[in-house]
Amino acid sequence: VLELKGIVKRYGKLKAVDGVDLSVLPGEKVVIIGPSGSGKSTLLRSVNMLEQIDEGHILFEGRDVGYVMRKGKRVPDSHRNICRLRSEIGMVFQHFYLFPHMTVLGNVMEGPVTVKGMDKEEARRLACMMLEKVGLSDKKEVFPATLSGGQKQRVAIARALAMQPKMMLFDEPTSALDPELVGEVFDTIRALAKDGMTMIIVTHQMGFAREIADRVIFMEAGVFVDSGRPGDFFGTCQENERISSFLSRCL
Ligand code: ATP
Ligand code: MG
Repeated sequence: VLELKGIVKRYGKLKAVDGVDLSVLPGEKVVIIGPSGSGKSTLLRSVNMLEQIDEGHILFEGRDVGYVMRKGKRVPDSHRNICRLRSEIGMVFQHFYLFPHMTVLGNVMEGPVTVKGMDKEEARRLACMMLEKVGLSDKKEVFPATLSGGQKQRVAIARALAMQPKMMLFDEPTSALDPELVGEVFDTIRALAKDGMTMIIVTHQMGFAREIADRVIFMEAGVFVDSGRPGDFFGTCQENERISSFLSRCL
């Protein structure tokens, strides 16, 4: 579904992402781990065009998205294509970024109505379905401020799902949560995984990584250092000193 080729993202002199290649197969669950500042968020943000990459290509379903060459310079593709990409690839962040002045239902309906121009009744039905999926049917009419962190994150997931994406990106979806709320968010992601959703997940929770991943990738200083099936990866990673020292700090 998704293919990244030679992605480079610079902030001034710093190469936050330094030549990343990645192919994600339909239904595949890719987990990216790595130390703070290694470029994981920058990479996910690049996939969703929240960052403009400096080099490389992003192919989604075979389409080269995001950039066109104009007068020898890479410039972002039309706004329309970017909107289309964002509606096809859902993203969930560490901090939920819900709209505080809208109810839970309003938050989940917003994308389909404003981005896709969906009829309000239809959007409402869809939003209700997504809220049921994340187990929050009873919270439709409340405002985000009254929710727990885990509930807010589940609303954020429902909001992303309401766009009916073909793929989901999760950037440390549980690291802003109290430990006792982590499980409910993982349950939601697990259910999505079971439905066959293609996803890339950045997490520091190694137990979850091992359980959900088809493939684990270790990222450091903007590059993919190692990857493998979780069984192999966690089994052999002691051989790499940097990975094993990272893991020993995580667990
Ligand atoms: P963490 O695990 O802490 O979330 P990360 O792997 O997600 O880390 P990134 O947030 O992608 O790391 O950051 C990669 C590097 O890019 C870091 O050195 C960071 O300081 C730098 N960086 C990120 N965003 C910006 C920005 N907007 N401007 C300048 N530098 C940035
Ligand atoms: Mg990050």
